[in-house]
Amino acid sequence: MTDEVHDVVIAGSGMAGLTAAIYAARADLEPLVLEGDEPGGQLTLTTDVENYPGFEDGVEAFELIQETKGQAERFGASYRQLSVEDADLDGRPFTLHLSDGSRLETKAFVVATGASARWVGAENEEILMGNGLSTCATCDGAFHRGDDVLVIGGGDSAMEEAIFLSKFAERVEVVHRREELRASEIMKDRAMDKEEIEFTWNTELLEIYGSEEEGVTGAKLAHHPEGRPKEKLDNPATEEYDVDVGGVFYAIGHDPNTEFLVDTDVVLDDEGYVETLDGRTSETHVDGVFVGGDVTDSFYQQAVTAAGMGCMAAIDAEEWLDELEREEKAEAAAE
Ligand SMILES: Cc1cc2nc3c(=O)[nH]c(=O)nc-3n(C[C@H](O)[C@H](O)[C@H](O)COP(=O)(O)OP(=O)(O)OC[C@H]3O[C@@H](n4cnc5c(N)ncnc54)[C@H](O)[C@@H]3O)c2cc1C
Repeated sequence: MTDEVHDVVIAGSGMAGLTAAIYAARADLEPLVLEGDEPGGQLTLTTDVENYPGFEDGVEAFELIQETKGQAERFGASYRQLSVEDADLDGRPFTLHLSDGSRLETKAFVVATGASARWVGAENEEILMGNGLSTCATCDGAFHRGDDVLVIGGGDSAMEEAIFLSKFAERVEVVHRREELRASEIMKDRAMDKEEIEFTWNTELLEIYGSEEEGVTGAKLAHHPEGRPKEKLDNPATEEYDVDVGGVFYAIGHDPNTEFLVDTDVVLDDEGYVETLDGRTSETHVDGVFVGGDVTDSFYQQAVTAAGMGCMAAIDAEEWLDELEREEKAEAAAE
């Protein structure tokens, strides 16, 4: 048995989870936010946010997160730095098994666990992420006017990132570990038509140069004529060399954080993103489980869209709880 039964538990403390917390708290639902391993979410990986509405001069990501967190707290939200490891969504209320071995119950469950961008594993990436290294061209492209930049990847999202960056950068070099792109023909053609975009085949990123203060200043690449050079670093045909660049963009995909939903009736798409019931609201295929933010959105993946979807999830959860209460009262009256 668990001691705790909540009205709403929100998994995730990025912009989706925090916005859901504001709305649920203002509806007097006293939401509990399980912050996961990355309190504040993906925005903690960057410094300045220039495209979130309401800040003429932009806002520091840390400040945006802290203010949003405080805003929800003021109305009664609480936080725990724990993750959901497993969810039993068959019974009512739902039971969530947490990373410290404890469990709790909740009537409504909001999933806002985001999608983590894949990292290449290059040296220095932890220091430089958010300081010239990024996983989001829409977010950080405008910081690279006149720079030479690298885009790492070979799929559609790499082509999209490269095309977007070509508006700002002097030269965009797409670095791909094989000699053929995975991207669709149409995206390949669009990228190849841009004179600012160049392709470097059979090449991988080993190291990024720079510092938190000066940002990215260069990178070390490895090339092997048959591709996948990282697997052949000792091979005499592998050549390592340096390039001068002012930015590096990773575009090798995202992993939605949905492992704890795999054995539930919540439907996930082929990539693991949560599918909504009708593709429009925040309702999932399990009554009482709602979703918002990057964990259900593989396309926009922006702070403002995540916040909007968090708002939707909280409003839908509130309505669902109201309906549940009406049904329970009607049942009690009928007995
Ligand atoms: C380098 C970088 C720069 C960016 N810059 C911008 C920008 O300038 N403007 C912009 O609009 N967007 C930007 N973005 C994108 C933006 O950060 C995301 O779109 C946004 O954070 C998504 O919010 P979210 O709440 O859906 O998910 P996330 O922010 O990914 O948050 C997910 C949350 O879920 C938690 N979690 C994960 N698993 C579990 C679990 N099992 N149980 C409980 N909690 C869990 C995590 O700890 C985290 O708190 C940037 C992203 C990156 C990586």
